[in-house]
Amino acid sequence: MKVGLFPGSFDPFHNGHLEIVERASHLFDEVVVAALRNPQKSQALFDLDERKQMIEEVTAHIPSVRIVSVSKLLVNVARDVGASAIVRGLRVVSDFEAEMQMAQMNHHLSGVETIFIPTSPKYSFVASKLVREVARFGGDVSAFVPKVVADHMAERFKDGPFDD
Ligand code: ADP
Repeated sequence: MKVGLFPGSFDPFHNGHLEIVERASHLFDEVVVAALRNPQKSQALFDLDERKQMIEEVTAHIPSVRIVSVSKLLVNVARDVGASAIVRGLRVVSDFEAEMQMAQMNHHLSGVETIFIPTSPKYSFVASKLVREVARFGGDVSAFVPKVVADHMAERFKDGPFDD
């Protein structure tokens, strides 16, 4: 069975992420979406369990998708879920540099391959960080995130800006 592991912070999970999951589901028998804690990113908007729950809701229409939320090294997650490959989305050329290094590191550590799926142009400017910024100051993010996520963000920011 071919298992694709799609890892990320997903804080929040947006339409660009969803499209990658949908496309990966055509390539793998199972796609495991792993919401990970990223120590390089400052305080999270949603905790890992909240992210997992939201991703479960918005991917419920794809039966071959499973969601995990973990706080460990990616290659260990890949081993635990029996991943055939790690899946990463690419938005712009500048993403490639860091992604290439991560892919090489992960391959060195464990032999796991990484495959890159280029985003549709309509999502190339959609990034969790920007979506958070827009929502924090009361902007409309409904074009960028599934409704469930937009509702959670509205709730989170209902009393005003949230400090990162
Ligand atoms: P990170 O893993 O750096 O915390 P994210 O959680 O934002 O990043 O993203 C997880 C994965 O989704 C990464 O592979 C990232 O390149 C990809 N991704 C992010 N935004 C988009 C987008 N708009 N279209 C396609 N893929 C994306």
